Amino acid sequence: MCEACATPPPTPTLTRAQLLRLLGVGVGAAVLPALPGGAAQAATTHGTGRGPVLVENVRGYTLTRKGRLREFSSILISANGKVAGLDAHAGRGVRRVNGRGRVLLPGMHDAHGHLWSYGALASELDLSGTRTLAEAQQALAAYAAANPDLTWVTGRGWNQVIWGLGRFPTAADLDVVVSDRPVWLTRVDGHAGVANSAALALAGVTRDTPDPAGGQIIRDADGNPTGTLVDNAMGLVSSKLPAPTIEDVRQRALTAQQKLNAVGITSVSDAGTDAAGYLVLRELAQAGTLTMRVNAFLTWDAFSEVGADVRTDSFAADMLRVRTVKLYVDGALGSRGAALLQPYSDDPANTGLLRIEPEELDRRVVAILRQGYQAAVHAIGDRGNRLVLDAYDKAFRKVGDRGLRHRIEHAQVVALDDIRRFKKLDLIASMQPVHATDDMNMAEDRVGPERIKGAYAWRKLLDQGTVIASGSDFPVSSALPFEGMHAAVTRTDREGRPAGGWYSEEAMTPVEALRSFTLDAAYAAHQERVIGSLEPGKWADFVLTDLDPFCLPANRAMWQTGILRTWVGGRQVGEYGDL
Ligand SMILES: [Zn+2]
Repeated sequence: MCEACATPPPTPTLTRAQLLRLLGVGVGAAVLPALPGGAAQAATTHGTGRGPVLVENVRGYTLTRKGRLREFSSILISANGKVAGLDAHAGRGVRRVNGRGRVLLPGMHDAHGHLWSYGALASELDLSGTRTLAEAQQALAAYAAANPDLTWVTGRGWNQVIWGLGRFPTAADLDVVVSDRPVWLTRVDGHAGVANSAALALAGVTRDTPDPAGGQIIRDADGNPTGTLVDNAMGLVSSKLPAPTIEDVRQRALTAQQKLNAVGITSVSDAGTDAAGYLVLRELAQAGTLTMRVNAFLTWDAFSEVGADVRTDSFAADMLRVRTVKLYVDGALGSRGAALLQPYSDDPANTGLLRIEPEELDRRVVAILRQGYQAAVHAIGDRGNRLVLDAYDKAFRKVGDRGLRHRIEHAQVVALDDIRRFKKLDLIASMQPVHATDDMNMAEDRVGPERIKGAYAWRKLLDQGTVIASGSDFPVSSALPFEGMHAAVTRTDREGRPAGGWYSEEAMTPVEALRSFTLDAAYAAHQERVIGSLEPGKWADFVLTDLDPFCLPANRAMWQTGILRTWVGGRQVGEYGDL
């Protein structure tokens, strides 16, 4: 048993006053959830329930601690939910599960996703499948008609590039469908939103409203707001939305975990847990209701308020970890909010947006390090990335990196000269393979043929020894880990386009792709000693699949891999088809 498992996890202890203070952050007049105060013993989802279990007759793969691929045909799980051995002898009294020759892989860890917006999608208008503005308008009309009692109509997932619109959508585009109540629709990347006129009026956004720092109000030739708000300007409208109740937040977590387990995800690093989210995760972990491990990145607000009180490496037998803080330096490429060193190739007057002043970024990084937290900073453009690299460099000189494996989230467009700095500073590149194939229709328009060489540059990072932790950024991109692995390995979309792959020299091998979604995602979360591979002493978190990603039939692609079973902590948490 490794040291981390032998030591009982510290339990965050919160006084009622602290809980109330937490609830004051971001949730308005929420109802206090029934949480036991003090160091209550956490229940867990772990354990087989009835003694040891042998899952046999499988085609198993795992990485070893050294990162090599190992094959096995059975896995023995002890009663406490941990791996007892691979291809091990099972004595009497062991329950046997026949895997019927299916493939068994370690559970997938999405190293960067958004639980709350993903969970909210189930009750909002989902525009992610729409191919044109007209289709989106029809969907909006149907949704508004089906939900007459909603005071606000909210949704997500539009992409003006896929619509072939050549411009952002406008309030007028929405007014023709819904004009009697406010409408707020977030872009697929979460970095822009479009409001109808009722929402703009409610938020008081007029031609006299100045662009907030780090944000842009898209305007027409006369200076009137058109309806689209980018990055920090989104808050003008989104701050007027009714705050979710704790029950809403709880529902979002439960919905998200159900959907994520079904695609093979057993762990997620949540890129933005606010105080209400933290409370709900803690409550669910304590009650044994979580079926997915969460590595929560506190928002800056939550960290400032209660960071010192809630820090934990392991809560409820590794179901929850809280030791990372999320910051944003810039926006995204699709809405031209990513901060670039030189102007956008397709918008020569524009170099993007900084969502924080560089001095403030430096100050926050130092504050995070001082509290013993890992920093995870969103950076998309080459200027954004450089500022974060600079901030880490300065902070490490001042207070040391404290061995906390600091991260850059996305590391999407990096100046070629800056790539080596990831290694020099020993940073983790937290990247989303499917962003490359989602963005290939516009990325080169935005940054041109030179800068694209440092974009989605997995091979350059891997070859210098930088750890890549892979995720999907759900709901920005598809949460399917095998779609991410397909993009990582082929640099093509689902249809295999473009033939040969988009800048295919940056592709990963299948083993590297699996590693980035398992062992290295765990490493980036400081959890490689308890999860990320199937080795004795680690939690038995795994999936059974219907395809072998290392030996695909000629007519099938990796993204088509379906999940049949999901196990977490030695317990089956989902069944999705016949073995
Ligand atoms: Zn994100």
